[in-house]
Amino acid sequence: MAETSETAETPAEQPKAPKRVLIVMAHPDDGEFGCGGTVARWAAEGRDIYYCLVTDGQVGDAGDKEITSEQLTEIRHKEAQAAADALGVKHPVIFLHYMDSRLEPTLEVRRDIARVIRQVKPDVVICQDPTVRWNGQGYINHPDHRAAGEATLAAIMPVASTRLAFPELGAEGLPPHNVKEIYIAGTQSADRWVDIGGYLETKAAALRAHKSQIHDWDPLPEMTEWAKATGEAARKVGHDMQYAEGYKYIRLEDD
Ligand SMILES: [Zn+2]
Repeated sequence: MAETSETAETPAEQPKAPKRVLIVMAHPDDGEFGCGGTVARWAAEGRDIYYCLVTDGQVGDAGDKEITSEQLTEIRHKEAQAAADALGVKHPVIFLHYMDSRLEPTLEVRRDIARVIRQVKPDVVICQDPTVRWNGQGYINHPDHRAAGEATLAAIMPVASTRLAFPELGAEGLPPHNVKEIYIAGTQSADRWVDIGGYLETKAAALRAHKSQIHDWDPLPEMTEWAKATGEAARKVGHDMQYAEGYKYIRLEDD
């Protein structure tokens, strides 16, 4: 496959063997918004999926009531697990416990994500896009999203894959691991699309688990609109799908 070609996954394209997938996101609801349909589909197809959240989401509150970061952490951990359960993820969500809204792509964060990569040994990583600063005229990308994306890409290469990059990981009994594919979510440079027709209700159900964030808002209509617009973009380059999630795709190694 040419590295620059635009590609798509349709339901007809089943993985040869169940792939292991690691999702690394800054906040508890980022994965559901950015790749919930893909995760629901891959889980239904039998992929082994792990979720890693870099912060606890401990400042994500509308400010309408008195609540401490500690109380919010507890709520958001439960919501994140309920959302992962709704998508069909079988493993407990992994938290790295960095502080929400103060995330930087430091060497420490890289190392901690690389540790998870070496423990989980994923074939595929889904992460956030470190290059997106804004969208249109009404949206500033959260700096934690960029930091988590930056740190995850650096964790994949070189930290997880290179023995001498952080020798303390080897000393913990974690040998290097090579991730084969990267799906960068929330991107403005999509060149791969995943058909999520049939998984919109599951994506919405997972989002509803984040009650502290979305309250009584019904995510289904807006998620359907997003998926329809992304499906349209996929069709423009020849991929026949009505509802899609789009990614910047990187293949580092063949199966
Ligand atoms: Zn977020």
